[in-house]
Amino acid sequence: ISSKLPNVGTTIFTVMSKLASDCGAINLSQGFPGFDCDPALLDLVTQYMNAGHNQYAPMSGVPILRERIVGKTKFIHGIDLDSENEVTVVSGATEALYAAVTAVVKLGDEVILFDPAYDSYAPAVELNGGIPVYVPLEMPDFSVNWERVKSAITAKTRLIMVNTPHNPSGYVWTKEDLASLADLIQDKDILVISDEVYEHITFDGRKHLSLLTHSLLRSRTFVCCSFGKTFHVTGWKIGYCLAPPQLTAEFRKVHQFLTFSTATPMQYALAEYLSEPSLYFELPDFYQKKRDLFCEGLKETPFEFTPAQGSFFQMVSYGHLSDESDYDLAVRLTKEIGVASIPISVFFSDKKDHKILRFCFAKNDLDLASALDKLIYFK
Ligand code: PMP
Ligand code: GLN
Repeated sequence: ISSKLPNVGTTIFTVMSKLASDCGAINLSQGFPGFDCDPALLDLVTQYMNAGHNQYAPMSGVPILRERIVGKTKFIHGIDLDSENEVTVVSGATEALYAAVTAVVKLGDEVILFDPAYDSYAPAVELNGGIPVYVPLEMPDFSVNWERVKSAITAKTRLIMVNTPHNPSGYVWTKEDLASLADLIQDKDILVISDEVYEHITFDGRKHLSLLTHSLLRSRTFVCCSFGKTFHVTGWKIGYCLAPPQLTAEFRKVHQFLTFSTATPMQYALAEYLSEPSLYFELPDFYQKKRDLFCEGLKETPFEFTPAQGSFFQMVSYGHLSDESDYDLAVRLTKEIGVASIPISVFFSDKKDHKILRFCFAKNDLDLASALDKLIYFK
């Protein structure tokens, strides 16, 4: 058949995790915690399953969870949302991103993507007949050059897709970034999707600034969040989308036919769990310790790096040591040294090799230490 996505293969996360498993390597490639969630959360799920909460949840999410999400958003950002009309529970941020793109992008619409970007954005745009327009991020910190964004905007621009903290670089948007975006779109018919799945993972005292905290941006944005990242349960595929009522109404038209609803017992369990803010408050410290441990160890290796500002990824450069492509090196390190990583060329629109690998440090300290012991031998 003629493919709708001729240039898309199997995602790098599947490829590298399989290779890691085939080689018995320590898997620092795909971004998922190498440790379990709080047992109390697991108990809550079984409790709700045993209590018979095993049928379809309401399409927009169980009311108590939507209310608790409103509470969480108020607590963190001081923003009041309407749980009926501005919050939708979804099957992971991936679904939220896809549903939001599908809700607003029409054939021939241009969508601004920052380059590099998380790998699901461009296919979502293309499957909906949209045209990705790439704005390169500024190396080496992957910050946004707002002049470049300005020149990328045309009369056909419908949407801008934002990701803060950024995967793979960890760059965290500043107040100035939010203001610049608002300035550029205020007198135009442009919407925004903000992927904030790493909202609770920022370092060195940096604070995540949700696009919700800016009144103009709030009125134009779908904010996509994931409980998988926040509560160490990526396998549950559950998250939520926050958007103003009109956008939420369009979002739900897609969500209801994409998945209809999301696993019911998990929703009740998360709702109860969310009555305590402690876990997400501890997350920056929890991950800062891991980032620091990993970066301390990296100093003993020949890689060059700047500690990540946020997310649970650390990028490293090796161009001063080798001409090998990042993909070849990631494969070789997995096979020969026993540590799997992600070659970041996959996140670039032109797949250009920048001689940078991405390591996920959301792993047990012991695994991080053994990975570092192995990486010392990289030549
Ligand atoms: N956006 C980004 C930037 C991610 O790194 C990920 C990966 N976990 C997702 C979205 C997808 O999140 P979920 O697992 O909740 O679908
Ligand atoms: N977001 C994760 C990463 O960047 C992967 C999620 C997935 O495998 N789809 O590694």
